[in-house]
Amino acid sequence: MSPATLHALLAGYAFLLGLVVGSFLNVCIARMPEDRSVIRPPSHCPVCGHRIRWFDNVPVLSWLLLRGRCRDCGTPISSIYPAVELLTGLLGWLLFRRIVPDAEAIDLAHLAAWLTMFLFVAMLVAQTFIDVRHYIIPDEFSIYAVPLGVAASALLQRLGWSEAIGWKASVLGALAGGGFLLLVMGLFWLVRRREGMGLGDVKLLAMIGSFLGPFPAVPFVLFVASVAGSLVGVPLVLLRRRGLATALPFGPFLAFAAVLYVLHGPAIVERWLPGWRLIIR
Ligand SMILES: [Zn+2]
Repeated sequence: MSPATLHALLAGYAFLLGLVVGSFLNVCIARMPEDRSVIRPPSHCPVCGHRIRWFDNVPVLSWLLLRGRCRDCGTPISSIYPAVELLTGLLGWLLFRRIVPDAEAIDLAHLAAWLTMFLFVAMLVAQTFIDVRHYIIPDEFSIYAVPLGVAASALLQRLGWSEAIGWKASVLGALAGGGFLLLVMGLFWLVRRREGMGLGDVKLLAMIGSFLGPFPAVPFVLFVASVAGSLVGVPLVLLRRRGLATALPFGPFLAFAAVLYVLHGPAIVERWLPGWRLIIR
């Protein structure tokens, strides 16, 4: 097999693994807000209770073949399910192309970096859908994942991945991200006497900082998330003319900005924020 063929094959596997992980994320999205186990019981139809057969549980394909309905009772199955699977597959593939750009880069360090960043992004996908629906960010995918970010950063540096941040920058990133939002939250409370942001967002940015490091990732994520949040939030408020701004969760915008940073961050900083590079060196 030629190196180019192997590279294309691995990229295809990255997409397939993304579909399967997306299928598991659907379980997390449905059960975690209700504090139910994500392992037991196996997936079943919420209406008729029939267990989903293995051949009806193939990501995306089964939903298409069943035309979005339960095989037993015909209850419609939300298109969110295949959408999460497809999104996770696509992100797995994009991340592979970004972190393992060609056949030369196929080695343990790059593959471990891909797996780490894919896990990071998968957690962001799950918590985005949970946040939009329930206005909560599960600790499992935010503050509890900080030690994982620190350990992975240390390991990737040991393996010699050129973009590894190391454990010190990882700890600093968690402190910078969480600390900054905690400060904003405190100031907002002093001025307005109410919470403008949830503690979930603080834990989320701490987790993002632990995987991406303090600089330029944390200011980048805050800046992009604020701009994206305003672009979506301001028209919403104007349209409904009610206090809807507080009901718009900030977490999904933080997640979006973090994914953008993983995929294109260095290029964007180089192109649009060259001064930021100078501050580091
Ligand atoms: Zn059913």
